[in-house]
Amino acid sequence: MNGPSASPIWRPYTQHALVGPPVAVARARGAWLETPEGTRILDAISSWWVITHGHRHPKIVQAIKDQADLLDQIIFAGYTHEPAEELARRLVAIAPAGLDYVFFSDSGSICVEVAIKMALGFWRNRGETRTRIVALEHGYHGDTIGAMSVGARSVFNAAYEPLLFEVARVPFPREGQEQATFDALERACAGAAAFVVEPLILGAGGMLVYGAPVLGEMKRLCEAYGVLFIADEVMTGFGRTGTLFACEQAGVVPDIACYAKGLTGGSLPLAVTMCKAEIFEAHYSLDRARAFFHSSSYMANPIACAAALANLDIWESGDARQRAARLGAMQGERLARFENDARFANVRQIGTIAALDLRVAQSGYLAPIGPALLDFFNSRGLLLRPLGNTIYVLPPYCIEGNELDLVYAAIDEAAARFGA
Ligand SMILES: *Cc1c(COP(=O)(O)O)cnc(C)c1O
Repeated sequence: MNGPSASPIWRPYTQHALVGPPVAVARARGAWLETPEGTRILDAISSWWVITHGHRHPKIVQAIKDQADLLDQIIFAGYTHEPAEELARRLVAIAPAGLDYVFFSDSGSICVEVAIKMALGFWRNRGETRTRIVALEHGYHGDTIGAMSVGARSVFNAAYEPLLFEVARVPFPREGQEQATFDALERACAGAAAFVVEPLILGAGGMLVYGAPVLGEMKRLCEAYGVLFIADEVMTGFGRTGTLFACEQAGVVPDIACYAKGLTGGSLPLAVTMCKAEIFEAHYSLDRARAFFHSSSYMANPIACAAALANLDIWESGDARQRAARLGAMQGERLARFENDARFANVRQIGTIAALDLRVAQSGYLAPIGPALLDFFNSRGLLLRPLGNTIYVLPPYCIEGNELDLVYAAIDEAAARFGA
C-alpha cells in the first residue's frame, strides 16, 4: 500500500502501512461533517462518542467565544475562577446524590487514573493496606498505563503488558450467567481497594450491554465488602444510555464517578472525577503528606468549563432529554428490522446506542472485516467505525429520522456484501 506519507502526523490506532490518507474535514454542523471540497459525511458515531447535541451547538459556541474574551487559562493550584466554581456546584447538584467533590482533569483516561489514585490514597490515609483493583472482563478505561491496567488485555496493550499492574478480573455478566459474575466479584472483593466498571454498557469492549439490576447487585456486593465502587461514565454520561447518567437506572450512587466525553457536549477536552465526602475527608489533614497529589496543566480550563456550563444549560432546558429519548425510539424502530435477520447476532440497544454483530467467517478486532467495513461505510459518506464485526450506531442527539435511515440502509447493504 502507500509508504511513509507526506504528513508527519502519527495517527491513533492506525497501521500506517495498510491505510490510505485520512479524510480531511473542514467544517461541521449538527450531525454532518464537510470536507474542504464540500463533500458531506454523516457523523454516525458522534466523532468517537463525544459529540452529544451535535457539532457546533450555538449555545456552546457562544459560551466558548464569550469566555475566550475574558480568561483563557489559569493555574488551578491556589487560584480559581467562576466557570469552574459554578460548574462544580452544578455538577454536584445533578450527579447521583452524595458525589460532593469534583476533581478536574482533561481526558477520560486521566479522570480514571485520578479515580484509581483517589481510591488508593483513601485506603492508605485510613491506614489500611488495600491496593488491589477489581475490574470487569472486556472493560475499557483509557490508554494510559493505569487505565490500560484496569482495562481488558488485548492486542491493544500487549507490548506494554510488562508494565501493567495486576487486577482481579470478573467475567462479563452475560445474560443468564450473572450469578457467575456475582460469585467472582464476591471472591475478588475480599480485601480489595476498589471495583471499576462501565455502567450498563462496555463501549470499546464491543458495546456489550447488561441490565440495571446487575449493576445494582454489583454495587451491593462492593458495599458489603467495603470496596469502593468506581463508575466509569466517560462514554455513558450525559444521556447516552437514556438517563443523564447510567447509574441512575440502577439507583446506584458510586463512591467515585468519572465523566468526560459529553461533559462539554464534546466540544472541548474536559473531565471530572467526582467522589463522596469520605474520600475527600480521608485526604483532609493537617499533615501535608496526606494531600491528594495530582494535577495537570490544563485542569479546569476556563474555556472548557464555560462550554460545559452551556452543556448543562442545554440539559436543564429539557431539550437534550427530549432529543435523546426521540433518538432512542428512532434507533429502536430501525433496529427492529434486523432482529430476526440471520445475518446478524446480538441485536441490542440501550438508550441512544444501537449495536449488532455481523455474522462473518472471521471475527475479532483484527479480523479483515474491520477495515473492509470501515472503507465501505466511508464510501457511502458515513462515519461509522465498527469494532471488528460489531457495527454500532451512536449518533449525536440532533440526528433526524431520514438521516438515520441512510445509516441503516448502508448497514443492510454491508450485510449483503460482507455477511457470511
Ligand atoms: C473513551 C473512554 C475512556 C478514555 O477517554 P479519553 O478521553 O479517550 O482518554 C475511558 N473510559 C471509557 C468508558 C471510554 O469510553
